[in-house]
Amino acid sequence: DLQMYFPVTKGIVLQRTVGHVQAVDGVSFGIERGKTLGLVGESGSGKTTLGRTIIRLYKPTAGQVFFDGQDLAQVQGAALWRIRQQMQMIFQDPFASLNPRFTIGTLIAEPMHIYKTGMAQEIRSRTEELLRVVGLRSEYMDRYPHEFSGGQRQRIAIARALSLNPQLIIADEPVSALDVSVRAQVLNLLQQLQRQFHLTYLFVSHDLSVVRHVADRVAVMYLGKIVELADRDELYLAPQHPYTKALLSAVPIPDPQIEKKRQRIILSGDLPSPFHMPRGCRFHTRCPMAQSICREIEPAFEAKMGHEHFAACHFSEQVSGAAPQA
Ligand code: SF4
Repeated sequence: DLQMYFPVTKGIVLQRTVGHVQAVDGVSFGIERGKTLGLVGESGSGKTTLGRTIIRLYKPTAGQVFFDGQDLAQVQGAALWRIRQQMQMIFQDPFASLNPRFTIGTLIAEPMHIYKTGMAQEIRSRTEELLRVVGLRSEYMDRYPHEFSGGQRQRIAIARALSLNPQLIIADEPVSALDVSVRAQVLNLLQQLQRQFHLTYLFVSHDLSVVRHVADRVAVMYLGKIVELADRDELYLAPQHPYTKALLSAVPIPDPQIEKKRQRIILSGDLPSPFHMPRGCRFHTRCPMAQSICREIEPAFEAKMGHEHFAACHFSEQVSGAAPQA
């Protein structure tokens, strides 16, 4: 039941809170050790904020985040510092996340120096090993980020994230800024590293085709809430929420014959402002299946097809055969 609200203030000297942006609003899910949960949704749905709240870059407004049985929302100071070692983040843009003034050896070694994981020579050897692990040559240690391509930079960022032997990695759109030609290579690397080091991933993306490639389970987020959560194949084959169905209908299919016959669901309008949440179901302003009840009563997030498939829609049983109106 995690919440992350940001206050909206007015006034320059005497600031007063005039409301809250409900970036994450009552979200619950679990990720099994060694597995990948794909978190999808449009820009502004709250995915990145959720990832950052889990890793405690933000202190949650309410709710709990359990990691190995410990509530991260409550840990502070030295205890938080220690537990952070177990959780690392890979950011979207490797052109912005690597400081251009430092060599890549320095960048990869920095977390190890901060956490004092060994003597200088040990850290250097580990840095060389990490470069090899992500498919780069250890002789690159003394080069600067600008000497590398986008794909190579993301490999460097991954090496840095691995430097403290984390258990959980939050990958926030890790391939969105990369050329299509190198995306598959980076995704394959992430999967190979997961098997090798038994990593657990929260994989944030707006791209359902990318998530399908890497995730075991998928959560779909809309305006701060998870609206559907299921095993990957079940979600792709039998979505129970109109928003998921609309997102899936926008994924290109490489076969032109199938693509031609396919029915696209075009959602009208933009994502409403998280400062002025719609009443009832948050999706009702854009939902092609909305009825009057949807404008009044918020649907419960509950098990649908099986015990492990959850969705928040009053009419989920009609979703698979629903005819889009727009
Ligand atoms: Fe659409 Fe109503 Fe279901 Fe919300 S509850 S997704 S508005 S049909």
